[in-house]
Parts: sequence; structure tokens; C-alpha cells
Amino acid sequence: MKNPSYAYFCSSKKKLSSFFLQLKKRLLVGWAVVLGVFVSCAAPSSPQTEFVLGTVCSINLFEYGRPERYRALFARLREIEDRMSVNKTGTELDAVNEAAGRAPVPVHPDTYYVVEKALEYARVSGGAFDPTVGPLVKLWGIGTEDAHVPNPSEIEGALKKIDYQKVLLDSEHHTIYLTEEGMALDLGAIAKGFAADELAAMLRQWRIRRALIDLGGNILVVGEKQDGSPWRIGVQDPRSGRGEYIGIVQIKRDKTTVTSGVYERYFEQNGKRYHHILSTRDGYPVQNGLLSVTIVADRSIDADALSTTVFALGYEKGLSLLEPLDVGGIFIFENQEVAVTRNLSSQFQLTNTAYRLSPPR
Ligand code: ADP
Ligand code: MG
Repeated sequence: MKNPSYAYFCSSKKKLSSFFLQLKKRLLVGWAVVLGVFVSCAAPSSPQTEFVLGTVCSINLFEYGRPERYRALFARLREIEDRMSVNKTGTELDAVNEAAGRAPVPVHPDTYYVVEKALEYARVSGGAFDPTVGPLVKLWGIGTEDAHVPNPSEIEGALKKIDYQKVLLDSEHHTIYLTEEGMALDLGAIAKGFAADELAAMLRQWRIRRALIDLGGNILVVGEKQDGSPWRIGVQDPRSGRGEYIGIVQIKRDKTTVTSGVYERYFEQNGKRYHHILSTRDGYPVQNGLLSVTIVADRSIDADALSTTVFALGYEKGLSLLEPLDVGGIFIFENQEVAVTRNLSSQFQLTNTAYRLSPPR
């Protein structure tokens, strides 16, 4: 989460209280989701946790976990946040958005890369995933104290500003240009994935062979467990939102699992729940029978982008997008069915009896 999620850093007192509320909630969720992992960890170690990238980030190095290592890792997360957050002033993304319709803005390779990747996913999803969703995200304000259902004319206005084809990248000068005034990038659906991959790269450089990274539920395991048993990652129950899980994915080594769902960020108005993954077609939270999508992949940037993309596309189209890729997917539906892609079926175990597995397809 980001934007609202990512964008969670607050200036007013009101927002500050929501920040702490959210922090508390995320702490609970974060801890419980990785419980399955900790339960089976042989070596005693203690994770370090900080609030960054709009969420609770926890890192557990199972070897060479010296304080300076943790400091460097969290500093890297803050650096990424300072470049890509939309609600912090002075970020590069902020500068790109400010200059919309006026001028290209030079950015750091980090930001350039993440925007480039986001545009790839926008293309493959025909714009269901679209990093120019910024004006719509801002309008709904989900994850802030100002969250409310906008009126239809506001939604129409925001939709007109969304079009990934109007983002021009210049690879020679490393600039990003939003060609129309009022456009705004939001990298909330992808930046945490990038961040997790960056941390993993640092660990590889330091030759740390075993670690667990949890950026607000985006989980990345590095290496194998010492005793050779698989890592066990809990898949969040989207209806409880309290860190309870519906099942376990077993992972041998070096994978990432990322979930997008209705429980992550939402508000309620007149008894109806509005969550934070927005349809770029009608401007409202996506409603397609899905409660969450979990992606298991090699790289977290792909898993993060794909979990949002597949959620936005829905089951059928999402599945066709996943099939040619070497990634796994777990779909949880409103009717409590759970569908798991064939390549993941032997690694996933449903543990919550309120749900039932549908046959693999
Ligand atoms: P989380 O933030 O919980 O990790 P996601 O990765 O699914 O969840 O990202 C959701 C965030 O992505 C929203 O909070 C918003 O900032 C942004 N977003 C919402 N709808 C879209 C969309 N259709 N395409 C791209 N980004 C979106
Ligand atoms: Mg995502």
C-alpha cells in the first residue's frame, strides 16, 4: 500500500492519528501473516521493523544480522520512498506530476525503471493496471481520513486524466513526461515489489544466504532454510483482515509472494465497503467476485504489479495473463472458493475450512 498506501505520510494531526491506527493494524496483519514462516525457523533471530513505504516493513536476517546491515537496508527503503512516494512533497514522482503538461523531468534510474515496468504491465493489461491512476486514487482518498465516495462528475473528470499511453519516457535523458496537465503517476501497486528486490540484491552482495523480507505483506524469502525444510508462507484471509490465513504456500527457496485484495485498504460508507484497487474503466473499486489475488514469483516487482493487474482484470483474463508466465496464482473469491494455478497446486495447502478449493484449470 502505498499511495494512499504509499502516500501515507501525513501532515495534519488528523492524519497522524489515522497513521497510528493504520500502523497498529498493519503491525497485527504483518506479524500474523508471516507467523507460518517464523514457526518453522530453526535459528533464533529477531526481525527489525520500521514504518516505511506507507506500511510496516520487517526484515529478518538469519545470518550476519548486524545492526549496520539492518540500517543500510532500511535506509535503502527510505531512499526508494523519497523518490517514489506520491504524498510526500519533494519526491521525484511529485516533480513529474507537478510538471504534467509542461515539461519532461529527469529522474533517478530507480524511478525510471519502476515507471518503465509499470507501463509494461499497463500495456499487457490494456490499461486495467495503469500507473496514471493518480488523479482517481487522490479523489477517493482511500487510506486517508478524507476517504469518501466521489460524485460521478468528479469520477468522470479523473478518468479523463488516466492514460498510460500519454507517459513519455526518454531513455537517453532519463526523463519522464506526462503529456497532459492534471495527469499524475501513482506507483503504489508496484514500488514495494521493486523495494523488496532491491533489498534482496543487497543481501546477495553481502552473501547473506538466508533472510525474510516482509514489506507490508509483500513477502520475499532469500535462500533456503537451514534445515532444508520449506519456508511456509501464510496466505491472508481477506475476510478477516486480522492476520488470519486461509492456507499455506510452501517455498523451497528464493521466491516472493505478493497479495492484492479488498482488505488491504478500504473504507465504509452507508454500510458499503470501498477498497483501493480502482477500475480505470468506471472509476470505482473493482468488483468482479474476487477478494484477493496472491502471486508467487521470482521477482517481487513482477509479483506486485501482477497481483494488482490480475485482480483488476478478474479471474478469466487474469489467468490467461499468468498462464504463459512462470508464476503461480491463488485466487480467493467472494463465495469462499479458492482457485490455485496448476504450477502451485502441490505447494499450496488450504487450512481454513470456511473455504473450499475449486478444481485446478
Ligand atoms: P497494496 O498497496 O496493498 O500492496 P496493491 O499492490 O494492489 O496493494 O496496490 C494498490 C494501490 O495501487 C492502490 O492503493 C493505488 O495506489 C494503486 N492503484 C489502484 N488502482 C490501480 C490500478 N488500476 N492500476 C494501478 N495502480 C492502481
Ligand atoms: Mg501490487
